[in-house]
Amino acid sequence: MLDNSSASLAPAVFLDRDGVVNPMVTNPRTGLLDSPHRPEEASVLPGVPESILALQRAGFRVILASNQPSVARGKCTLEELRLVHERLIELLANAGARLDGVYYCHHDPKGVLPELACPCVCRKPAPGMLRRAAREHGLSLPDSFMVGDREKDVECGRNAGCRTVLANASPRESRAAADHDAKDLADATSWILSQPRTARA
Ligand SMILES: [Mg+2]
Ligand SMILES: [Zn+2]
Repeated sequence: MLDNSSASLAPAVFLDRDGVVNPMVTNPRTGLLDSPHRPEEASVLPGVPESILALQRAGFRVILASNQPSVARGKCTLEELRLVHERLIELLANAGARLDGVYYCHHDPKGVLPELACPCVCRKPAPGMLRRAAREHGLSLPDSFMVGDREKDVECGRNAGCRTVLANASPRESRAAADHDAKDLADATSWILSQPRTARA
């Protein structure tokens, strides 16, 4: 029999990807900061593997939840994004770290590719990826945290009922809604590990 009591559900830390796990890179075509579109552009920010391992040792599942609209916007192919993803997983594995789950949203209603240019329930700040991960991994959202470098990550976490941490956010991002403003993922991890295990009263 399935036990649906919250005691059997695991807490998670949801990680945004670009700007938190890997640095943004300069897009050679636009000169602007962008997601990596080629595997050789992918790298892992300092302290990320150690943070993933520390969170898992403390009992958290560590789940990636990332908007990746570049295909919808016609900037690269799904195959190129798959290669970037595989390279990041490989770099983490080389450092001994393994994510418990990975969720991507490839939609963008303002995109140019008709099959991906549609509204969806997964594009952050919508909470669809976190809710789906909670169902598929048996997670307790009120006991979980969302870490991201953008206000929309914080909104997504709040929409899912999680506590929220900004990490590595540019000065432009509003701090108002986040429970904590961290320098980077290592700093976010220290804060999360110092918090009460549940946000429930
Ligand atoms: Mg980001
Ligand atoms: Zn989506």
